Amino acid sequence: MSAEAAAAALRAGGLVILPTETVYGLAADAANASAVARLYEAKGRPRFNPLIAHVADLDAARAVAELGSLGERLAARFWPGPLTLVAPHRAGVSALARAGLETVAVRAPAHRIAQAVLRAFGGPLVAPSANRSGRPSPTTYADAVEETGASAALALDGGPCAIGLESTVVSVLDGVARLLRPGGLSRAEIEAVTGPLADAATDAKRSPGRLALHYAPDAPVRLNARAPRPGEAFLAYGPAPAGERVFQLSEGRDLREAAARLFALLRAADRTRPTAIAVSPIPMEGLGEAINDRLRRAAGFVG
Ligand code: AMP
Ligand code: MG
Repeated sequence: MSAEAAAAALRAGGLVILPTETVYGLAADAANASAVARLYEAKGRPRFNPLIAHVADLDAARAVAELGSLGERLAARFWPGPLTLVAPHRAGVSALARAGLETVAVRAPAHRIAQAVLRAFGGPLVAPSANRSGRPSPTTYADAVEETGASAALALDGGPCAIGLESTVVSVLDGVARLLRPGGLSRAEIEAVTGPLADAATDAKRSPGRLALHYAPDAPVRLNARAPRPGEAFLAYGPAPAGERVFQLSEGRDLREAAARLFALLRAADRTRPTAIAVSPIPMEGLGEAINDRLRRAAGFVG
């Protein structure tokens, strides 16, 4: 399936399942309000939760948003890659996709297929994770097609996602870097450029749509578990006794590996129909901040 065919489907107002380096996205023409409405519908996503506009590069982002010198610096350092910037909207993204805000979230993904489709399409695409709202994000082609394939005109297979967590969202409004959502780019990497990030992860006003229950499998999730109880599936981090319902996030305690496996293993654990999914403690350093954020939300906690 070619990038040209995907671009044609998008121009016709259709939805396209698209691999990125973070998770699989369900893409629509950001400027086309009825395509965007179809996308919210397909995901069952609340309309107060704005979407990320994906662009090919910094030049394309400049048409969409006023990045300012802070945004320009971050984009120059980290794009293409798993960083989303929130800045004043300039043009090209429908009000519906922005949930009525004057600001817009924008990112240039690194994945070669996402890049090819963006270049063939020639404008911004909104592309939230290709799951039904509230469910774990798909990080494989099969999981994406299972979630939203029925609503997509076309689905592109890019293999498993290299990062496996959604992008880190940073607001650069008023020239201040604020962390709105931890993600696939660690806080330390960003702070090396910006200095200490102001933390706005729990400020609902600045970060709409951060729901308490999100990324959730069907089974309840039990955090900081040392071992599974009878009937539970277990997501281990570090050496653990093997078992039918034991899934290894990373035996060698590598946070990148755990991030890449997290959502696929939540789904695999869920398929065993356990009484709960118990998850090992994950350290808070590096990508651990984003992994713990997703796990707390999968468990129904924010905090
Ligand atoms: P998702 O598409 O599910 O990965 O979520 C996109 C994330 O970006 C959500 O956390 C949104 O709240 C956030 N976001 C999108 N647009 C804006 C915006 N204009 N201001 C603040 N946060 C935004
Ligand atoms: Mg999502």
